[in-house]
Amino acid sequence: MSDKYDVIVIGGGPAGYVAAIRCAQLGLNTACVESWINKQGKPALGGTCLNVGCIPSKALLESSQLYSDAKHHFGDHGIVVPSVTADVPKMIQSKDKIVQELTGGIEGLFKANKITWIKGTGSLLPDRQVEVTAHDNSKSIHSAGNVILATGSTSIEIAAVPLQGDVIVDSAGALDWESVPEKLCVIGAGVIGLELGSVWRRLGAEVVVLEAQDAFLPMVDDQIARDSLRQFSQQGLDIKLGARVMASSVNGDKVSIEYTDKDGEQQLQVDRVIVAVGRRSNISQLTLPETDLLIDERGLVHVNGACETNLPGVWAIGDLVRGPMLAHKGSEEGVAVAERIAGHQCHLNYDAIPSVIYTHPEISWVGKTEEQLKEEGANYKKGVFPFLASGRAKAMQDTAGMVKILADADSDAVLGMHIVGPHSSELIGHGVLTLEFEGTIEDIARTVFAHPTLSEAIHEAALGADGRAIHIPNRNR
Ligand code: FAD
Ligand code: AMP
Repeated sequence: MSDKYDVIVIGGGPAGYVAAIRCAQLGLNTACVESWINKQGKPALGGTCLNVGCIPSKALLESSQLYSDAKHHFGDHGIVVPSVTADVPKMIQSKDKIVQELTGGIEGLFKANKITWIKGTGSLLPDRQVEVTAHDNSKSIHSAGNVILATGSTSIEIAAVPLQGDVIVDSAGALDWESVPEKLCVIGAGVIGLELGSVWRRLGAEVVVLEAQDAFLPMVDDQIARDSLRQFSQQGLDIKLGARVMASSVNGDKVSIEYTDKDGEQQLQVDRVIVAVGRRSNISQLTLPETDLLIDERGLVHVNGACETNLPGVWAIGDLVRGPMLAHKGSEEGVAVAERIAGHQCHLNYDAIPSVIYTHPEISWVGKTEEQLKEEGANYKKGVFPFLASGRAKAMQDTAGMVKILADADSDAVLGMHIVGPHSSELIGHGVLTLEFEGTIEDIARTVFAHPTLSEAIHEAALGADGRAIHIPNRNR
């Protein structure tokens, strides 16, 4: 069978499905090829993000935080709960329901926008043709004026710790455990390792995180990373830096992990392991050698600033290409590419993409870190405001962390915002808008923030950059 679409998108994750919807909105006859089979054995849209990534992890982070609050913190507010128990299978069911509702919602949006969902695995052929292998192994060929590649990424596996049943799992496996391991080892103190380690720590596991690098969260502003590490240690996350995992073995119901650190070879006995050492792009089934699609040295599809590959009319977006592996980055690339295909001008500001680690406290940032500014030799100023001095954070009895704003000392332009603290994932939106609107410290200083809110800490940090914060003594006076 051969048919002709204006656009075929390969991959229905947050990059691909958003691209498909925007193409359809712009009047383009659009198809999306998606191969995902969900936990219930049914084809599903939404990709990693909706099925085994952003959404299910946030569902479990929310449930586990509520449990931990009820168990450890309600008493601080005068709420007496005689006994609190975690019904983990119910938590998993509740997470699965959220996932099913959201992925079903994307299917509904496809129908409403008249997007054809071609179920199966897509391979790019020359001349913007796409071969699809359906779940029953039948093959079909489709062609389009433009093809958008959005096949995303999967967890990296390491030979030293091969996955095994539900004992040694990747991030997807760690979202499905129906019981709490007594002792858990997380390999990799990146975003995913810290989030999933937090979930199981809150539910009662003893958690050891092994991280090969000496630096903790090297991409995060150092002051914020150091403060976060202190918070996590207080919560009982045992984060060992400079600890490279070399080997593992399963003995009965225990896993033995061998790692090296500055003191030499070490061993750890645990009940379960999460391997969270990063993600790699999905290119193996995407294209054939004769298609000549250019893959870069990191195994990513090579694209220019407009997400064009080396092949005319073939675009690539999301985790498949350079840039942070974040759902919102992929979605915005999807919108931008759809609009470019439809002949619109479009620009995506890669300098104003927020990052968030949804631990407690949450870590969020946008723009430059202080270390980057130092390296550039920039003439910068900074304002820092601790949540300990925020009336709202006090009322919430959740005062860990701070807001830090960095700005150009000459022009006053805000260059970066870094927040560790309650709901920082929501607060960072202020920083994103400030960068997007090329705002200054003075713009934030002259903005009225509601009292009492956590966002007042942003106001105070901006005031602090010029030595005029109200609720803390100013260092720069
Ligand atoms: P994916 O979401 O990976 O989607 C790609 C899709 O393509 C998949 O559905 C796959 O089945 C399909 N596919 C692959 N090959 C083919 C083929 N040949 N033919 C047809 N279909 C194919 N990001 C955030 O921004 N915020 C978060 O809070 C967050 N939390 C995360 C938590 C976890 C545990 C994980 C693992 C990731 C998290 N991420 C988060 C990252 C986020 O999930 C990814 O950045 C995002 O999903 C990338 O979107 P994508 O569309 O490029 O790829
Ligand atoms: P991220 O790429 O943010 O998901 O983080 C993955 C983390 O895993 C990185 O910080 C890596 O340094 C770390 N890592 C990779 N391989 C190993 C290993 N063998 N032992 C311990 N940590 C590792």
